[in-house]
Amino acid sequence: MTKEEYKLYIDDVIRRVEFARVRFNDKHIVKIVAISKYSTCQEIKALYEIGQRAFGENKAQDLRVKSSELDELPLEWHFVGNLQKNKINNLLDINPSLFQALDSLELAHEIQKKLHVRDVKLEALLQINSAKEESKHGVMPEDAVQIYNQIKKECPNITLRGVMSIGAHTDDKKIIKKSFDTTYGIYKELEDADICSMGMSGDFELAIECGSNMIRLGSIMFNK
Ligand SMILES: *Cc1c(COP(=O)(O)O)cnc(C)c1O
Repeated sequence: MTKEEYKLYIDDVIRRVEFARVRFNDKHIVKIVAISKYSTCQEIKALYEIGQRAFGENKAQDLRVKSSELDELPLEWHFVGNLQKNKINNLLDINPSLFQALDSLELAHEIQKKLHVRDVKLEALLQINSAKEESKHGVMPEDAVQIYNQIKKECPNITLRGVMSIGAHTDDKKIIKKSFDTTYGIYKELEDADICSMGMSGDFELAIECGSNMIRLGSIMFNK
């Protein structure tokens, strides 16, 4: 694809986001985070050149390599993957804009300790396992509000901004919608939360119609 063709292609993705957000509410604003985990620095740069600024990775090592290689560009980096305790320092070294996958109270406490030592803060989203799937990380929906408030109280260096969830793993739209409705319902119960991150390449329109205001698009943004 030429740069011009790529631009038209992305315009079309943005148009789909636009139609979906108006179906939710005409004042609703949706942010796209381009998930670059299957993409090279060159591909990230090509997307940057047509206007994308927020990117996300799911491995601390990849985030480190790509963010340092693209250091000269004014990019915003998100971390969306499962974070092992022994990798917390690696993540904090990069100082990401948003850690989207805070998935337990225990992990929050471990991160808090390290943030305290460094005297820095970290913005984060609580990950919800909205469809209660064995294969997924995140807190159970029924525990989410309580854990969120406990992290806010016990982890002063973590600034919680809201929730993140991956839609149910099925082709049944009704079940996917139910998982998004569950996450949005939790989001609405939280005081001061302003980010509801849900929706990926295969289900972002449905997620937006359910109230998502941050979508994480990988394959579709890089045309893979
Ligand atoms: C890979 C990934 C995405 C993007 O997936 P696509 O289906 O390629 O859009 C979004 N969120 C998380 C947490 C991911 O790991």
